Amino acid sequence: MKKFKKLDLHRHLGGDVNPATLIELIENSGMVIRYGNRKVIKTEEDIFRYLDYVKKRYGIEGILTKGFRLVNSVMQTPYNLQTVAYEEVRNLYLSKVVYAEVRFGPRKYSLEGFQTDHMKAEGTKIKAKNLIPVIKAISRGLLKGEKDFGVKTKIILSIGRDASETDGLEIAKAAIATQRNNTVGIDISGNEAIHTAEPFLNAYKKTFTTKLYRTAHAGEFGPQKYSNMKFAINSLKCDRIGHAIDLAKYNDLVSLVASRKIGIEMAPESNIFTGIIKNRRQLKIMSLLKRGVKITLNSDNPALFGYSLDDTIYRTAKEYSMNLRTLELLRKNSIDVSFTTPFEKEKLQELVENR
Ligand SMILES: [Zn+2]
Repeated sequence: MKKFKKLDLHRHLGGDVNPATLIELIENSGMVIRYGNRKVIKTEEDIFRYLDYVKKRYGIEGILTKGFRLVNSVMQTPYNLQTVAYEEVRNLYLSKVVYAEVRFGPRKYSLEGFQTDHMKAEGTKIKAKNLIPVIKAISRGLLKGEKDFGVKTKIILSIGRDASETDGLEIAKAAIATQRNNTVGIDISGNEAIHTAEPFLNAYKKTFTTKLYRTAHAGEFGPQKYSNMKFAINSLKCDRIGHAIDLAKYNDLVSLVASRKIGIEMAPESNIFTGIIKNRRQLKIMSLLKRGVKITLNSDNPALFGYSLDDTIYRTAKEYSMNLRTLELLRKNSIDVSFTTPFEKEKLQELVENR
């Protein structure tokens, strides 16, 4: 598995900050982060203890809010963002990833250090022009990493489901404005059980006439997986969907994604971690592949959830008794549905075949 060249199309920058880096950035910033009985986060072990604490006490909600907030709290300066992005490329390199699409919510990284006086005066309203420095800092880190480690990366901007309609529009505008910085798509992430994606329809519509691609977390958790997936396909016109856990249950959606070649970004270890699935077979990967669905395997939040992309692929392969040909098919799917040009896809195929 360690020698197998891979792609990762669904990886959150904030979900893959190394604990050692996190500690270093917390120390440098002089922040004191307390939790539980006012314990202070000082070491890497403290990070894992903290995550364990929020998971036990608040469940998946706790990880999605308090877990990410810990990471977000240090990702507030251009230097820190660039550092985290650079390290992300090193993480990818160490996992034998040759190409990745890294996603993040730029709005989350512009609440403190990045705020200009103008924005402070206006409250927390985020304008595209204020998000652009965030995206550029991350893009710089990724490009520096590409130079040193040879891993190609692109950027997807996520709209948090808790964002306002206006914030969503500003993120879409920022995506359009930073295509030269390797932004290739937009995404919607967050708690789909309580927030629909409807407020972001106009943000998605803004990209219909651009070169940008569209994905969205849909069918990850909650009782409305079907309607969220359907909305992502039909209304948001997504090129890919994140998770789509119950997809195999719905023949109409399976036909739609197969005929439109919509990529499915599965992340089984993430689903196990959050407790949404009990075993990887629930995802019905083999059956979906047979029905012509472009399934791909991805990591989601490896460092924060405590596993690697290798773990994801290895454990899934084991549970389904997959052979090398199936793993190669899954990888080929990743190339096919990556947000790249036909020329880049050809190059990627050559790159993974070249041992
Ligand atoms: Zn995700």
